[in-house]
Amino acid sequence: MQRVTTWKTLVREAIERLPRTFTLRDILNQRDYFAKHYPNNRFIDAKIRQSLQILRDQGFIRFAKPGVYERTSAEQPAFSPFFDPSVADGFVSRSQIARVTVETWAEQNLYCLNCDADELGALPPNTQVADLECLRCQSRYQLKSKNGRFGDIVVGAAYEPLMEAMKKREVPDYVLVEYDTRFSIVVFASAIPGRHIAEDCVIPRKALGAAARRAGWRGCNLNLGRLKAYRVSIVEPAGRNPLDVRGDWKRID
Ligand SMILES: [Zn+2]
Repeated sequence: MQRVTTWKTLVREAIERLPRTFTLRDILNQRDYFAKHYPNNRFIDAKIRQSLQILRDQGFIRFAKPGVYERTSAEQPAFSPFFDPSVADGFVSRSQIARVTVETWAEQNLYCLNCDADELGALPPNTQVADLECLRCQSRYQLKSKNGRFGDIVVGAAYEPLMEAMKKREVPDYVLVEYDTRFSIVVFASAIPGRHIAEDCVIPRKALGAAARRAGWRGCNLNLGRLKAYRVSIVEPAGRNPLDVRGDWKRID
């Protein structure tokens, strides 16, 4: 499979070739360089602008004044919980808008849990079972997202491919993203290692009837409630420890 570089990396590389202070035009002038990596992308300008915004959120660049940017000396990305809903412009269905927005956020902010790579690349849309892949160690991740909190049961994807992946011990790691559309923000994210997702967590659903567009297709639900012990938190709201809060409260005279 062809290895792809993420937009964020491409734009960051383009920035590194420029003087410390640069303009939007300087970046847009490198369109040909971006087109070499993404020949079919009709939205190169939009992708560049979006990547600049993310690099700003992550502390790599500053917006000096309209259209003028300045590179900072940051090496490590700062994490940004914010969505950019404009990435789903042109999509109509609510579920598609959510999918595109969350996937873009994940691609820009999640990092590999199995190696020290700072970012993950999106897999082609029709890839079975997984959504993201580490460009360095090839670990795969499946995204699950919800507006609000997940209960124990999470809607899975196609049943048979998941069972196939289990047989081959190739179940990707799962990342659960819980967001709040009112504020375009990710509130919680956590991960479960794919090796712990076994057959007894999978609840097959009824195959779609003959009248359905995807007749015969069978989905499944996953009982992730029983895997709580294997769940690692990635994002959680920054509430303070109540003991510290009470301690501070008591110290007020
Ligand atoms: Zn990795």
